[in-house]
Amino acid sequence: MRYLVTGAAGFLGTNLCLRLLEDGHEVLGIDNLSTGFSYNLETLRKNKKFSFLKHDVTQPYPDIGKIDFLYNLACPASPPRYQKDPVQTFRTSIWGIWNAIEFARKNKITIFHTSTSEVYGDPLMHPQKEAYWGNVNPIGIRACYDEGKRGAEALLMDYHRSTGNPIKVVRIFNTYGPYMDPKDGRVISNFLNQAISGRPLTIYGDGKQTRSFCFVDDLIEGIIRMEKSPKEFIGPVNLGNPKEFTLLELVKAIEKSIGKKQKLEFLPLPGDDPKQRRPDISLAKEKLNWGPDTSLETGLSKTLDYFRALGPS
Ligand code: UDP
Repeated sequence: MRYLVTGAAGFLGTNLCLRLLEDGHEVLGIDNLSTGFSYNLETLRKNKKFSFLKHDVTQPYPDIGKIDFLYNLACPASPPRYQKDPVQTFRTSIWGIWNAIEFARKNKITIFHTSTSEVYGDPLMHPQKEAYWGNVNPIGIRACYDEGKRGAEALLMDYHRSTGNPIKVVRIFNTYGPYMDPKDGRVISNFLNQAISGRPLTIYGDGKQTRSFCFVDDLIEGIIRMEKSPKEFIGPVNLGNPKEFTLLELVKAIEKSIGKKQKLEFLPLPGDDPKQRRPDISLAKEKLNWGPDTSLETGLSKTLDYFRALGPS
């Protein structure tokens, strides 16, 4: 198969491309390199079956030859990065899915769209099931991402309903692991790099907010199972780790991995920061026979090895 992966130089894009290449496929990666990490692209380029095109998904796709399957991952995903240019973030979601639809329609192929737990906003239902409609501030500082992703899901569903053309949608919860950009500003990359370089760990708010952290290999396995699931199962389906931790518990786990107590620095909580988040993954279990099996301890130690090998940042 020849796959198209948008956002190939990003954290999940790179891990997905590596998995597809490992499975013997050809991959064309596209990325505008706005938040993609150059180390990732260097790694992918070592494989002869990988080719790359610098392209912004807000523009129609250029002539890229025959493609059998389209994975749409392009979008900045870390809050500080997607808030840096919110208008472009919104455009990336909406025009990105629009252009993917145009391409998939012409080429008669499936679009696999990566949506997000952010469609649930600051959830009032816990844990979050796919049937939950969410609690999003439509005019807040996270709206460029949350509403962009919600809009993309809506467009894709309407495309599917009106044409019958194949789609697949997953909603991805917090994920971590190798090929994260050490400077992307998310909590695990921040904490691990702060710990490696002996800086205090920056906790936003009181550290009692919760997240569930999924190791990237588990997540990619869920994505592949979704791709291979029956055509009628279009999702959306939650992919994430149902084990929930407060940030203070995450600090404890990092201290255990590093083998040293860490200094903490408490900083103001950013606007609209969700208080709790945990996926209900019963649908993924039922339809894909999927669930994560990497413990936080193992995942953190693998991620720590990766950041240490990258060097100080
Ligand atoms: N966070 C933190 N310190 C950091 C980075 C993030 O305390 O250095 C907090 C952030 O406010 C949020 C949680 O960690 O409550 C997860 O943030 P992240 O940016 O990783 O992803 P989110 O789930 O908010 O999209």
